Amino acid sequence: MLCLAHMKSSEIRQRFLKFFEKRGHAVIPSSPLVPENDPTTLFTGSGMQPMVPYLLGESHPLGTRIADSQKSFRTVDIDEVGDNRHTTFFEMLGNWSLGDYFKKEQIEWMFQFLTEEIKIDPNKLYVTAFMGDDKNSIPKDIESAGLWKKLFAQRGIEAKEIEIGSEENGYQVGMQGGRIFFYDAKKNWWSRAGVPEKMPAGEPGGPDSEMFYEFTDVPHDEKFGKFCHPNCDCGRFLEIGNNVFMEYKKNSDGTFSKLPKNNVDFGGGLERLVMAATNCPDIIRVNYQPIIEYIESACGKKYGEKSDETRAFRIIADHMKASVFLIADGVIPSNADQGYYVRRLLRRAVRFSDFLDIDKSILSEVVDSIALMYKDSYPEVYAKSSSIKNIIAEEENRFRETLSKGLKEFEKGTDAFTLFSSYGFPLELTLELAKEKGLNIDIDEFKKEFKKHQDLSRSGAEKKFKGGLADTSEMSVKYHTATHLLHQALHDVLGEGIMQKGSNITPERLRFDFSHGAKMTGDEIKKVEYIVNQKIKENLPVNKIVLPTAEAEKTGARHFFGEKYGDQVSVYYIGKDIQSAYAKEFCGGPHVENIGNLGTFKIQKEEAVSQGVRRIKAVLQ
Ligand code: ATP
Ligand code: MG
Repeated sequence: MLCLAHMKSSEIRQRFLKFFEKRGHAVIPSSPLVPENDPTTLFTGSGMQPMVPYLLGESHPLGTRIADSQKSFRTVDIDEVGDNRHTTFFEMLGNWSLGDYFKKEQIEWMFQFLTEEIKIDPNKLYVTAFMGDDKNSIPKDIESAGLWKKLFAQRGIEAKEIEIGSEENGYQVGMQGGRIFFYDAKKNWWSRAGVPEKMPAGEPGGPDSEMFYEFTDVPHDEKFGKFCHPNCDCGRFLEIGNNVFMEYKKNSDGTFSKLPKNNVDFGGGLERLVMAATNCPDIIRVNYQPIIEYIESACGKKYGEKSDETRAFRIIADHMKASVFLIADGVIPSNADQGYYVRRLLRRAVRFSDFLDIDKSILSEVVDSIALMYKDSYPEVYAKSSSIKNIIAEEENRFRETLSKGLKEFEKGTDAFTLFSSYGFPLELTLELAKEKGLNIDIDEFKKEFKKHQDLSRSGAEKKFKGGLADTSEMSVKYHTATHLLHQALHDVLGEGIMQKGSNITPERLRFDFSHGAKMTGDEIKKVEYIVNQKIKENLPVNKIVLPTAEAEKTGARHFFGEKYGDQVSVYYIGKDIQSAYAKEFCGGPHVENIGNLGTFKIQKEEAVSQGVRRIKAVLQ
């Protein structure tokens, strides 16, 4: 299939930003891929992520209408790469109304942008809306549906509304000639916690309305379900954007009420908009052409001919672009944190180039074509390209030295930890090889060895909290427990809108950073101190429980939004049992056994660290 890029991504990006600028939006630059001042999450995975404080009520210095194109990296999508529409790195176009305009403007502008500005055929557009939630008395979003219906009618399209319900039901009932589809909260509801049931009191959320493009040349694949529908994963329908309408808040009695001010959050994948604007059902073909050509010349194979080779091309192309952008934002391949992901991407790219019979180092050469593609839109990538090349070349050469030996060891049945420590195989690479061969890998054994030998945990709160502790002296441990009390007390006094941004503990004091729009008043500080000291007087016990992550989330224990945890996490709770506990958090410890001897808690300082982030320094006297 040949795809002609009538409109390249740089043009669509520019048109989008201009379109919203003309409509009163301040255009802001992309935040880095590694969040600034936010040690709680590894990567920026959406345009919304850096905007969360403002969506929760903090005022944005540039006003109530904002637009941008945000570099995004999603580790969760790594296994999707190879299909026709997922990449780990992509740009997300976004626009926001912070208590300003709402559904009418947003939906009309979106329709106009898609059909007039980038000339997508409206006959190929489909939309979804929230079907309502009887249990929680949240009504069906007929307002959004009505707005879409009118816009389609203006283009001579009668937009029939179809009630689908769950995604699973979609496969049973199919399209039924519909244009506007109503889905349940799993598909068309947004809150930080997920569906309405999962939301804690005070949390905002709302329905969303998504837009899909239909590739009429891509036949439905029954492997995914009997009938196709917009949320089917076969590749015929492409989600191009999502309009979130934040209009509700959960009350403490579990009911929902309207927020005093509504927000709009739109996020749409730039590369997917290019696909729709060019009617090209292949995200790589239409956005990664120079990389594909380079790989073709290196291996003498043609992209698009054999499906397993095409998958390898796609993986290499994605992983290389993602690595280039991550390295440009300061991430260096390593065995921990963000660096681990770059290492994993690069080594995986090497393995798939091996699959294409490329036996010489070529990955660093690909950097030039990527840098050139983004010369105008991301000049810093271009400027840094020679040092990026060096970093990639070193990583590639090192891994190539051991790759073939490692593959032989794998065939012999060598354990995952040895493959990791002696041959540089990230665990996920071994798991993937095992899956291809239908073998099982003992992950627990790997983890045990991994811990024993290096004690490098690359994800989860455990490390983050340990990172916050200067040592594990008795005083540091006391301050650590006091930090949990403080965290909860801040929620009690300032509301559920605040979020932990970091913590640092020494035997002399605790330091705690959190998002909050305003300086705390003297009264608020006193209240927080009072609550913490009251709890200390109650001499509550501190307990730990290890649970599967999904179970742990259900306990309502605090954890970092967007953070990916392992299969099991430990939850520390302060109280007799987990239900009635005063404070609970995903945490690796250590903590005191009872809080009665913490002393008297005193806040010494409350100050700003950056826009919307406050810092508390406190002591136990
Ligand atoms: P999908 O179901 O296709 O994975 P999503 O529900 O994960 O999409 P959102 O989290 O709503 O997507 O992100 C907003 C938009 O970002 C999507 O509408 C899509 O256009 C784009 N997007 C999301 N994930 C990717 C990806 N892996 N590659 C390219 N674009 C993406
Ligand atoms: Mg997704």
